[in-house]
Amino acid sequence: MARYREAVCRLCRREGMELYLKGDRCFTDKCAIKRRGYPPGQHGQRRPKHSDYGVQLREKQKARRIYGLLEKQFHNYFEKADRMKGRTGDNLLILLERRLDNVVFKLGFAVTRRESRQLVRHGHFLVAGRRVNIPSYLVRPGDVVEIRERSRKILSVNEALDAVARKGIPVWLELERENFRGSVKALPSRADITEPIQEQLIVELYSK
Ligand code: SF4
Repeated sequence: MARYREAVCRLCRREGMELYLKGDRCFTDKCAIKRRGYPPGQHGQRRPKHSDYGVQLREKQKARRIYGLLEKQFHNYFEKADRMKGRTGDNLLILLERRLDNVVFKLGFAVTRRESRQLVRHGHFLVAGRRVNIPSYLVRPGDVVEIRERSRKILSVNEALDAVARKGIPVWLELERENFRGSVKALPSRADITEPIQEQLIVELYSK
């Protein structure tokens, strides 16, 4: 699967806000948004235009970048959310939250989703006792996500877990730090998702 490989701080600057894509660096004065809080590129310092379409597009791009997805993948989630019962916007965010790479990140095994995706891709995790190396795997209530025995010494994982108390764990997840595992207590509700996304704008964009 193709991935975005350019400098991720550009993405924050484009969206005009911190998307926290670089872990600890995001909380220091080295954050590019603090240093250059305008969009990247030759025309970055021009006054931006805000058409309805532009606002909706930016919201979609922001959500896509927070979860680290390419357009096609993101659009597939929207189509799936649209086919489900309930509000499409809520369904979309809940599907994105249920991705295994997001759950690994939220449980604190990694400091960024990018890092958690790599850990998953490299086969370091078991879900319900079986090795899963697919970042887009959707977790279900009752699933136990654990790092494999032989991977428990990875320094970055231990550092990330040590820092997790600062971040906090979402209420729909539970972490057993000493056992290097977490569990999915329930599916997240919209209220449990704290990412700064206005999903209604995304629905409006794709519904045109
Ligand atoms: Fe975004 Fe700042 Fe983190 Fe770079 S350091 S990814 S600009 S929040």
